[in-house]
Amino acid sequence: MSAASCMRESELLDALGRGFVGAELESHVATCLPCSELQAVASALLDDRVKAIREAPVPTAAAMWWRMQMRRRQEVQAASRRSLLIGQAVTLAAAMAVMVALFGGTVAVELREVIASIRVSSPLLLALATWIIAAPIAGWVAIRGK
Ligand SMILES: [Zn+2]
Repeated sequence: MSAASCMRESELLDALGRGFVGAELESHVATCLPCSELQAVASALLDDRVKAIREAPVPTAAAMWWRMQMRRRQEVQAASRRSLLIGQAVTLAAAMAVMVALFGGTVAVELREVIASIRVSSPLLLALATWIIAAPIAGWVAIRGK
């Protein structure tokens, strides 16, 4: 890895993989050395890949490198999807906590009493908390299993 690198390199790699680089990104690449180098290398590899598919049944080293890169990127994306899901679960739990806090302060006295009686029933609260925590984790496990 060279010392010079750019935050938008992975964005550029995605765009090149899709075969479309937007005008805004294109103008950034024109002014950014790491990005323009990446574009030159990736374009050559993409050409290689196209040629390899067209001409030879055996993939070239460049095509294999490209495939490895794509697989690694997909793994990274899957990992970030998982952490996003965990983040959503935490957000959901926090939102539930905020809702309970708000309800406790603003609703009619009768309803507040109902909530208070629920709060006394700790096994129910425990079951609810377990469900809130377990449901997203179960979903996460299901997604990870694929
Ligand atoms: Zn750049």
